[in-house]
Parts: sequence; C-alpha cells; structure tokens
Amino acid sequence: MRCARLFLALVLAASLPFNTIARTAPGFVAPFAKSQMVAAANPLAADAGLEMLRAGGSAVDAAIAVQMVLGLVEPESSGIGGGAFMLLFDPKTKKTTSFDGREVAPASARPDMFLGSGGKPRTKMEAIPGGLSVGIPGVVAMLEMAHRKYGKLPWARLFQPAIKLADNGFPVGPKLARTIKGFTRGANMPDIKARFYHPDGTPLAQGEIYRNAEYADSLRKIARGGARAFYTGEIAQAIVDKVHNAPVNQGGMTLEDLANFTPLEREPVCGPYRAWRLCSMGPPSSGGIAIVQILGMLQRFPASQLQPGTLSEVHLRAQASRLAYADRAKFVGDPAFVKVPVKGLLDKDYIAGRAALIDPAKDMGTAAAGNPPEKHAALSPQRSPVLHGTSHMTIVDKTGQVIAMTTSVESVFGAEVMVKGFFLNNTLTDFSLDPVLDGLPVANAPAPGKRPLSAMSPTIVFDPNGDFLLSVGSPGGPAIIGYVAQTVVAMLDGGLPPGEAIALPRQLNLNSPTRLERSPTNDALEPQLKAMGHTVTVVTGEGSGLHGIRKVKGGYIGGADPRRDGVVIGD
Ligand code: GLU
Repeated sequence: MRCARLFLALVLAASLPFNTIARTAPGFVAPFAKSQMVAAANPLAADAGLEMLRAGGSAVDAAIAVQMVLGLVEPESSGIGGGAFMLLFDPKTKKTTSFDGREVAPASARPDMFLGSGGKPRTKMEAIPGGLSVGIPGVVAMLEMAHRKYGKLPWARLFQPAIKLADNGFPVGPKLARTIKGFTRGANMPDIKARFYHPDGTPLAQGEIYRNAEYADSLRKIARGGARAFYTGEIAQAIVDKVHNAPVNQGGMTLEDLANFTPLEREPVCGPYRAWRLCSMGPPSSGGIAIVQILGMLQRFPASQLQPGTLSEVHLRAQASRLAYADRAKFVGDPAFVKVPVKGLLDKDYIAGRAALIDPAKDMGTAAAGNPPEKHAALSPQRSPVLHGTSHMTIVDKTGQVIAMTTSVESVFGAEVMVKGFFLNNTLTDFSLDPVLDGLPVANAPAPGKRPLSAMSPTIVFDPNGDFLLSVGSPGGPAIIGYVAQTVVAMLDGGLPPGEAIALPRQLNLNSPTRLERSPTNDALEPQLKAMGHTVTVVTGEGSGLHGIRKVKGGYIGGADPRRDGVVIGD
C-alpha cells in the first residue's frame, strides 16, 4: 500500500513538464522537483525563495527571502517583529542543528505581569493586545546568525524581492483577506484600522493591491545595516515607543533590552521511530520532546495499526498524545531558567513505560505527567491557551542543505500593534499567565530575560542510512505537535506523499477531549471513538498550515496545506 501510493505519486509527478511542475494547487498529490524545492505559506514568498536558490543561494538564503516576503503578504502570521525556530540539516557534515530566535521577555517582565485584580490571571484575549505581551523580536538576529554560517548570497540581496513587492504592492491573497474580514476583535486597534480597512470601514478584500512603503524602508535599513539596524537606532526606538504608548496594556521594553538580544544555536532533540530517526526543536520549544515521545510510544504498535484515519491509528495517536502533552505542560520551559529533564523525558525505558499505559481498546481520560528518570523540580502543569498566527516553510537547496523553519508573531496579527510597517508579536502570552498553580511554581512562568514555552516543531526525518528523508512543520499553537505527529505517521507508516498526508482531516488530543475536524472520515470515526470512551469535540477547519518536502528517487516531492494559501515550487 505504502509503495503503491508513492509510486503513483511519482508517476504523476514525472508526467508533468519540468520547471513549471512544482507549482501546485495546495494539497496536490506530488509536485516534483529534481534538485531544489521551496514549500511555503504564500506563492509570492515561495517565489522569492526559489529566486534565491536559482541565483546560487543556500536553503538559508532562500529562507531569509521567504521570511521577508511573508512579513508583507502574510503579516498576520509572521514577520520581523516576531520570533522563529530554524532546524537545519547540513549535508556536508550530515549533522542537524537548530537556531533559536524565540522572543525574550524584557527586563521589566514580572511573574505576575498577567495577573489582574485579586491575583487572578487575565484572559489571554485581554492580555494579547498592546505593549505588555511583546517579547523582544528574534527573527532578524536569528536569520543573521544562520546566514553568517550557512549563507552564500550577500545579505542585502535577500531583501530585494520583499522590498520590490512592498514598494510596488501585491494583490491581497485569500488568507489575508479572510483573516482581516474575520478579525472583528482587533478591528478598532488603530494600526489595523489604518492599514487593513478602507476609510468607510470595509476590510481590504482579496485581489486589492496592498503597498507597504514603511516596511520597504525598514527592510532597506536592515539590508544595509544588518541586524544592528533593527536592534539599535531608529527601528529599535520606534519599537520601544510603540510598546510604551500602546493603546492598551502598555509595556516596559527598553532600548537596552533590544540591544542585548542574542539568538542561540542549540542541539536539536532527536529520537528514533522504527528504523527512522527524527530531529526537532528542543526547549524552549516543547515540540521536539513531545513529538519524539509520541512516536516513541507509537512504535510499540505495528504499522498496520497506524494506517492514516483508521480507528486504531486515531485512538493510539490520541493516547500517546495525551501522555506527551501531560509531560509538556509540567516539565518544559526555558532551559536557562528551569532544569528541563530532557534526557529523562526522552529515555527509551521511560517512553516504553509511558507507552505501556496505553489501552488499545479504551480512552485513558486525562493523562497525568510521568516521573522521568532525571532530577527535576516539583512543578505544577500549566494550562494551555489556544489561538494562533504562525507560518511554516521548508526548503532544500541543490547541495542538499535542508531547512525547516516555523516563524510566528504568536496570535493573529500578534499584539495588534505595528511599527514601521510590521506587527509586533504577543509571544509573552505564551508564558503561563499563572506563575504558580496549586501552590507549586509553573516551569513556564514569566520572568525577565526568559523565553516563553513554544510548541513550534520544525521536524526533519532521516532514513536508516542517516540521509535526509522528509521535513515538515506547522502553525497551530499547542496543536502544532498533534498536527506534525499525525503527518509524520501518515507519511512513514501510511506511505502517503506529503500533499496527501498534509491534507488529511485532523484528529488530535491535547490531553483534553479528542478533537475531530469535520469531514466524512471523522463523522464515521466519531461514534466509534465514543464507544471507546473518548469525549469528542468536532471543529470546523483546523488551523494547521503544514508544509513538507520528501526525498524520492531522483528528486523531491512536496505538499502544502489546503487550509492556507501555500505552494510548493522547485526545479
Ligand atoms: N506562539 C505559538 C508557539 O510558539 C505558536 C502560535 C501558532 O502556531 O499560531 O507555540
């Protein structure tokens, strides 16, 4: 079955003409490229990436060009005012590394910063808009760090496509138009009102031309002056002014906070799945640990029980997810502040012990966190918020360098305030708004200089020889972990090409009711899952935005999530 599907995908791919073939309708079965590929959330952004690859750029160069365009055409999801994680496979050393451009809390942050009167946490909705939720943006410094090590083209060259588009304008895409229209909550925030609504109050519609000269100007400065031009000087001053004078929830970020921002290169988190090996992002993301745990538990079951969309697959994945999400909520935070028992959580025997808690016939209900075999503090699990505004791209260049990068302003339109043509993130609301729960500290409590916990999971899978096999990631807040785990299992055990795996109806369990995305497959599963003890919530349209690439004989096939505007292109 697995081979047949892949074979079919390849036959279809090979029957398409070259160079143009990889442009695809989202979800199309198998765009194919021989030597290089870009999968990203917007066609204009993907074009900029491919332009860099064609000019001899590396995957990192292409990622920078893609990011700069995304900040213009998909500003609700990511941009230079936000943060990101980039996973990178270096074909020369056959090593995987990761870059951490997660936002950092300013020196003025306090554990109780999101508590309201009476010491109760404010709702996330109340805490998001304005200046208080803004973390020190990390994208620009992280990309510069990656470029110094892995870039080939001059830094300034990578900004050209975005500058041109920002000056000349581009037709608003379906997702941006949909987002503006649906974003009634922030419609009165002055920056959003001024930029995305007409004077008569009607929202900018799909196809209308949108220009952003201020953004072009910011990009010119960064192109010329490097990250320094973002973290000091005019742009930094504008960020500080905006945070201090936000229409609501003013914050205390300073010029010093910005000037001190330092991105990090980190060891990724890796683990086995059957004969494969996968790497993903480690703390301060919970994504890598949770995905390695979920797959580590599932490998106890034969692939025949993990065929995409079958009752056994959905049930088993829900159980493994419950256990992983329980550990995530309790143990993971910024490793500079809490001793995260990474080794213990990834310990083979520990994971096998957790897998033994799975009953193949019955839902276990709310899972409790385990007791990993490594020293850890007594902590209370945090409560997970929802809502998301994030983007994922994955790129492979001619040399075989692969990047998987998840990038975010956190919620839709971030903190809903703009500076010099870009949105500021609200990533500090990714902290547990409660610093203490049930008398115990929470690993992910706010603190000055701390990075909030993330679920972003840029993931790369290797074949049994250690060669690149596939790369994937998604937006979706805490649900990212579930989206990525489902897609990886569907590609590995189900043998589905990326486009099909990505388009599958979602089933998730975040250690709460089992969440089914409305679809005929899930309508059929619902009563069967209920009969196994699952409480089920049905949602219309999950917020995944997966982009993936898979190595196949003679090249690559890719997939883009039909839930967003993404494409896969290549040569
Ligand atoms: N800020 C979230 C995180 O880092 C991601 C939000 C989203 O995916 O929309 O986990």
